[in-house]
Amino acid sequence: MHVQDAEIIISAVDPKQYPSTGLPEFALAGRSNVGKSSFINKVINRKALARTSSKPGKTQTLNYYLINKAFYFVDVPGYGYAKVSKTERAKWGQMLETYFTQRETLCHVLLMVDFRHPPTADDIQMKDFIEYYGLPYTVVATKCDKIPRGKWNQHASVIKKAMNLPSMESLIVFSSETGEGKDKAWGLISRYLNE
Ligand code: GDP
Repeated sequence: MHVQDAEIIISAVDPKQYPSTGLPEFALAGRSNVGKSSFINKVINRKALARTSSKPGKTQTLNYYLINKAFYFVDVPGYGYAKVSKTERAKWGQMLETYFTQRETLCHVLLMVDFRHPPTADDIQMKDFIEYYGLPYTVVATKCDKIPRGKWNQHASVIKKAMNLPSMESLIVFSSETGEGKDKAWGLISRYLNE
């Protein structure tokens, strides 16, 4: 897909603020710093539409990006902030639950993990959460440029095993530096669009 148009729509705190266009949306979930903003920017060929290195203060918002007026990327606030209070974490969990259970236009979750390391307990918990709500998902393993190609299979197997993924089809090895995995990501998105 040729991206002609990409814009930030809203940082939504409340479900009432979610867009009402009915367009399909893809949630990006993952720990802060895993590379969600970089993924969005790479996939849409923008240098800095999505703000990279989002701050802990942003934990409560869902950031909507409208792409080609055809679909949304929704940047789900990162989990795993050591500094966030219990109350804030609970609020965040509530928001995510509401979003996952009530958002009818949410068609797929991209769960971002770091390709360099085994998935964390938070990563696995998020995957269980997504599965529990019966949402289709794909794991996107970021920063693969930091691992020599000869070790990719090994790293992919560790992730697949730790996350109990049904097949390698559920995993996209990605780099926002080299563009690895970008076509696969587009292939996945295109399946949901009427073009
Ligand atoms: P977010 O918090 O999940 O939105 O993470 P960011 O997109 O802000 O990325 C966090 C840091 O990791 C930044 O310094 C990025 O430049 C870096 N980064 C993200 N993706 C990649 C990647 O694929 N390869 C490399 N080498 N660095 C990356």
